[in-house]
Amino acid sequence: MPRTGYVYDERYLRHQPGEWHPERPARLEAIHGRIQSNGLLESLVRIPPYAAPLAWVERLHDPDYIQRFREACERGRSVLGVPDCGICPESYEIALLAAGGVMAAVDAVMKGEVDNAFCAVRPPGHHAEKGRALGFCFFNNVALAALYLLEEFGLERVAVVDWDVHHGNGTQHLFEADPRVFYLSLHEDPQYCYPGTGYRREQGKGPGQGFTLNLPLPPGSGDDLYLQALEKEGLPRLQRFSPQFLLISAGFDGHQDDPLAHQNLSREGYQTMGRSLINLAREEAGGRVISVLEGGYNLTVLADCVEDHLRLLLGE
Ligand SMILES: [Zn+2]
Repeated sequence: MPRTGYVYDERYLRHQPGEWHPERPARLEAIHGRIQSNGLLESLVRIPPYAAPLAWVERLHDPDYIQRFREACERGRSVLGVPDCGICPESYEIALLAAGGVMAAVDAVMKGEVDNAFCAVRPPGHHAEKGRALGFCFFNNVALAALYLLEEFGLERVAVVDWDVHHGNGTQHLFEADPRVFYLSLHEDPQYCYPGTGYRREQGKGPGQGFTLNLPLPPGSGDDLYLQALEKEGLPRLQRFSPQFLLISAGFDGHQDDPLAHQNLSREGYQTMGRSLINLAREEAGGRVISVLEGGYNLTVLADCVEDHLRLLLGE
């Protein structure tokens, strides 16, 4: 039985992007409440998060941007740059704690304390660019984990698979010229869906050419199309890359009942994708996989899908 780490902290609830904002604290309350009430929590190894050290965050994001974020919170501003990136006075500290939560999960897996982990963190990260907040995201949690694996632990090949319904523009851009990171994203066709990036023709740049694989899917796509794209095209490319570590940008907003997009994935579809990727991590990466929460805005669906995903990580 794999040992599965779990990152969660009540302080993650303190990031308040606005009363009507879909990326709300109740998302994590739904997840944590579910795994508390069904007893799953007792099977997991709790990993306490720490605030991501600035020296690391500055290797990923522009120092000017980090300072602007800190000052906007100190001054009590209500948004950072774009209207959908709502903030409160504590958002900067909590965003550091989210990024550091994922770093703590990396530490735990690399030290062999756990085999894999799930990070129930917020704010999410995959839209955050080097120098700006976008799409509810401030610091790119999963990208920081990838960088930390490469630069602190000396890995040479890290795969990021992003199945959030929205393209992870930030993660792609941060590593598009870096052949050490293979970025695979399945998302709704950018013609119809935020953030408008993630076309097939975006395949990486310079030495990173060929290390980005975007698999956009038309609106209304369900389990069949997603699984076909992952199994026929995604998995073979991942196998060829042979990652030493797998990171999953786990957004559950491609579900048919999610209010923010137009896809038709089911709970079973997410399970099947999760099983395929966990198997791949077992074959290629010694089972080392960390899943990081991104989107997912229907609270029941979110709790269902995270519960399922945790059970897969636990080898159930
Ligand atoms: Zn999303």
